[in-house]
Amino acid sequence: MADKICPHAEECGGCAYAAVPYEEQLATKQKLVDKLLSPFAKVSPIIRAEQPLYYRNKAHRVLSVGRNGRISSGIYAEGTHRVIPVRECRIEDRTCQLILTDLAALVQDFRLPVYHEDRRTGLIRHFLVRRGAATGEVMAVIVTASAVFPSRKNFVKALLELHPEITTVIQNVNSRKTNMVLGDRDIVLYGKGWIEDRLCGHTFRISPNSFYQVNPAQTEILYNTAVRMAGLTGRETVIDAYCGIGTIGICAAPYAKEVTGIELNENAVKDARQNAARNWLTNIRFAAGDAGEWMVRQAADGAHADVVFLDPPRAGTTPEFVQACAALAPERIVYISCNPETLARDLALYQQIGYQAKEIQPVEMFAFTGHVETVCALSKLSEAKHHISVQVDMDELDVTAAESKATYEEIQAWVKEKYGFHVTHLNIAKTKRKCGIIERQNYNLPKSENSRSPEMPKEKEEAIIEAFRHFQMI
Ligand code: SAH
Repeated sequence: MADKICPHAEECGGCAYAAVPYEEQLATKQKLVDKLLSPFAKVSPIIRAEQPLYYRNKAHRVLSVGRNGRISSGIYAEGTHRVIPVRECRIEDRTCQLILTDLAALVQDFRLPVYHEDRRTGLIRHFLVRRGAATGEVMAVIVTASAVFPSRKNFVKALLELHPEITTVIQNVNSRKTNMVLGDRDIVLYGKGWIEDRLCGHTFRISPNSFYQVNPAQTEILYNTAVRMAGLTGRETVIDAYCGIGTIGICAAPYAKEVTGIELNENAVKDARQNAARNWLTNIRFAAGDAGEWMVRQAADGAHADVVFLDPPRAGTTPEFVQACAALAPERIVYISCNPETLARDLALYQQIGYQAKEIQPVEMFAFTGHVETVCALSKLSEAKHHISVQVDMDELDVTAAESKATYEEIQAWVKEKYGFHVTHLNIAKTKRKCGIIERQNYNLPKSENSRSPEMPKEKEEAIIEAFRHFQMI
């Protein structure tokens, strides 16, 4: 076994493969993806990273005070709130790390009080630094427990003298007792309040709270792969679900008729809209909200899409999203996943509604860590093939019978026939949740359950429950 790349590896837990030679890491990741995904389609060899070290464009430190009163900046030991001082991280951008070290030294020099998690006293909690690899723009975020930040002007001045490469400084106020690094309020202390970076020939604005892929060189490969798999000709109506700041949709827009991005984080949606304008694109728009609920509404409105991109968080997507995809009937679906386990689970759901994986491409995005990114292209099967595949899958996969008993269309038709009124996909999805049909399968559900959709009449709910009984779903 090779030497560990990092002395903190065990406590930090970020780099599961700290002691594993890079070629071996790739082989292990390949094996994992093969095992989970080869039942769906042939898995291509993983695209390796040319730079497996110092690739992360974002770095974070938490502050703590030692017994001798010295301030150290570090990271939480895995699964705890104990801070391990960190001298160097081998996968984070070097400039970001130099800035983090100097930020901690400045806190000492300025005698600013460090936040104490248990006592909930003090001011300075975390630092976050992000750098646009292509533009060189740098954002430094100082997370404080309250908005009052004594001598902040001089602090920022001193920081900029040390690091003139910093293009914006933001104070983020996080007064809650929480594991989340960032709070809701940003106070711009210097510059624009965001940075820009370039990917695949487009410029993107990134706010402190917005998701942005951490490995820019590999992200270009990932996005180019995803857009190639979509097979765009300029005539397609495209959905970019879980779109973040709109990166994938914006990369696809020049080759499509129109694109709609959907994203939960409202700050990211604001960035996405700015990004569309910044890149002179007029055929892309964005909606804020839960991707599953939005898709169900689209399906209920009778919308159609030619291509659906989805890039959900590690938990994967939801059965209601997949069901709604069936109604929108895209020719192709491109699933970008950072967790092959939930990808395998969701590909099984897609197979049930008649979508077959055609190409599976792992892409190295997270060298030295245990994470694997995969892009998967799915195509709609013809009706006949769809039927066969569903029957095979039902036997092979241990899917919850309830989910598979009746489609949304069958429930709609049954209610119409029996009660004479129309129920929407959204009505059915909501009732499924109420009856525990969806929750039982342990999918992540949106927090703001009823925030956007109107109340459903009682008679509709009762009719749908009757349909569930009829189809023996409950
Ligand atoms: N495609 C983007 C973002 C991928 S990360 C990129 O490549 O940069 C996943 C995104 O899904 C995050 O921006 C997160 O805020 C968003 N998200 C999480 N849960 C969601 C939900 N239920 N509905 C819509 N978006 C969600």
